[in-house]
Amino acid sequence: MMKVARHFRLRSAILASAILLALSAAAAWQLSKARCIQLVGEVTCRVETETKLVALTFDDGPTPEGVDAVLAELEPRGIHATFFLIGNRMEKFPGQAERLIAAGHELGNHTYSHQRNLGRTQDFYAAEIAKTRALLQRAGSDTKLFRPPFGKRLIGLPLEVERAGYRTITWDVEDQPEKFIEPRAFAQDILARVRPGSIILIHPMYRINQVARDALPIVLDGLRSQGYEVVTVSELLKRTGG
Ligand SMILES: [Zn+2]
Repeated sequence: MMKVARHFRLRSAILASAILLALSAAAAWQLSKARCIQLVGEVTCRVETETKLVALTFDDGPTPEGVDAVLAELEPRGIHATFFLIGNRMEKFPGQAERLIAAGHELGNHTYSHQRNLGRTQDFYAAEIAKTRALLQRAGSDTKLFRPPFGKRLIGLPLEVERAGYRTITWDVEDQPEKFIEPRAFAQDILARVRPGSIILIHPMYRINQVARDALPIVLDGLRSQGYEVVTVSELLKRTGG
């Protein structure tokens, strides 16, 4: 009997530990994709303001097609935005970052190879950030803004972001191309969720992002008709004391 009880206790303990481990893994997973909270360092997903001011951000690339399409909509409207660029795309498509800077836009660091930044070494994080920083500086941008690929981060990446002197910028309104495949519905979804101080994220750069490119003028005109002024992340922070 004693032996059975001991076995039972041992098995219960193992089961409890396994459940605890699974729960903490689930909690860590949730935390790693949280938009507005972070274990280490500061993260900004929006700012508190009553002014109808929003930041517009574009992720990934740059690609010539994406830059062409976005500039064609922003320039005639006199809007400046923040582009979070990937280092290896900047190498593949030289000159695109320079085009964005020349048009008055702001650039941010979106790592070198756009991988999920969980469970890697500090050296890996450091290289992902530093390589892209060098490329951005060569293009003429000394940005202090960083955006984690897929929004994923836990402890190691935020530590390195802070060490490197960057600020993590996420978003509170994200495009949902998997849900809205028609440009007007895609745009309406964004317009319905935006509020003063929002940071909007749109992915316009790749071939699969055609709906985002087609929706962009509808988003921009919709924001204007709702009374919003659209600015870069730095401008949003500066004007709201964020
Ligand atoms: Zn990305």
